[in-house]
Amino acid sequence: MKFNTKAIHGGQQHIDPAYNSVMPPIYQTTTYAQSAPGVHKGFEYSRSGNPTREALEKAIASIENGTYGLAFGSGLAAIDAVLKILKPGDEVICTSDLYGGSYRLFTNILLNFGVKFHFIGMENAEDIENFVNGNTQLVWVETPTNPMMNIIDIEAIARITQRHHLLLAVDNTFATAYLQKPLDLGADIVMHSVTKYLGGHSDLLMGALIVKEAKLAEELHFIQFAAGAVAAPMDSFLALRGIKTLHIRMQRHCENGSIVANFLMNHPKVGAVYYPGLKEHPNHEVAKKQMKDFGGVVSFRLKDESREATFKFLESIKFFTLAESLGGVESIANHSATMSHASMIEEARLKIGITDSLIRLSVGIEDEEDLLMDLQQALNQ
Ligand code: PLP
Repeated sequence: MKFNTKAIHGGQQHIDPAYNSVMPPIYQTTTYAQSAPGVHKGFEYSRSGNPTREALEKAIASIENGTYGLAFGSGLAAIDAVLKILKPGDEVICTSDLYGGSYRLFTNILLNFGVKFHFIGMENAEDIENFVNGNTQLVWVETPTNPMMNIIDIEAIARITQRHHLLLAVDNTFATAYLQKPLDLGADIVMHSVTKYLGGHSDLLMGALIVKEAKLAEELHFIQFAAGAVAAPMDSFLALRGIKTLHIRMQRHCENGSIVANFLMNHPKVGAVYYPGLKEHPNHEVAKKQMKDFGGVVSFRLKDESREATFKFLESIKFFTLAESLGGVESIANHSATMSHASMIEEARLKIGITDSLIRLSVGIEDEEDLLMDLQQALNQ
């Protein structure tokens, strides 16, 4: 089955024997009647399993070319579940430029449980070798990175993690399975903030993990069940609906993203643009190799890098909503330093380029003319 067909049918078969409904019903239930102790139809309690969530989990596994999918109450809950595999003394090597909430989870919570993190730039994959030791268990990669849009070569990192028998997890939120398939490139775990492009309509909060290996799936399923951060039935239904249009939405996000990136590149008031589709991007060749297209997130700075000029721009845009989050059909602008990455300590934030002048755009699927007109009038301010 090819990708577009998979988005609509992959992992999805009729699960409603009652009326043959085309979409799985929303099983808004806590529990399931048993005819005798332990005798049931496969579901006992909705923390361990729910038919609507299971339908979504199978669909997500299918589009990522995985075998097992697990849906969580948020992207961070999914990341937390992966890290719960570890024990005190274990070490993680992770991308230095990553979503602020992931950084907060690692440094403010998991560090207190005795897990050590090495934050490093991974544009040169070999650099991770310097941090591998007997305690290293996991390499955590985000690509494209949020918000600097750096690209990490997944295949090159996987060669190293396989050589050292380390787990490789890839946060595939920005690219989605439409653009990039980390499991095919050698990763062990794919993670998603389903909240973003998979859901696609800014109306739910959810995370997902996808793996190929049965033992790893079993371990993660136990954590999902035992710690309990599961996705709700209604949200699972919405995410399943979102995935059915992922391919056409992503095509349009990529088209508009590229148009906006090129417009900004050629604008006299813009100082820098970060978009992997631009040939000037330092990792453009790696992006071309591992991604089908370049996505809908574009970060940039004005030539006037003052906080005043940046805020004036953000207060002047109209079709771009000034908000947290990304990946919905509507265009959103984010001030990373005070919004999505506010929880990073200033030194770490500045080191990777998230200064007060950085603006992250999630380019939606509106008409390009309206988006460019909006950016132009805000730049005129
Ligand atoms: N990973 C990335 C790349 C993100 O952008 C986000 C949220 O913005 C997350 C993980 C966390 O996901 P959630 O907000 O669904 O918990």
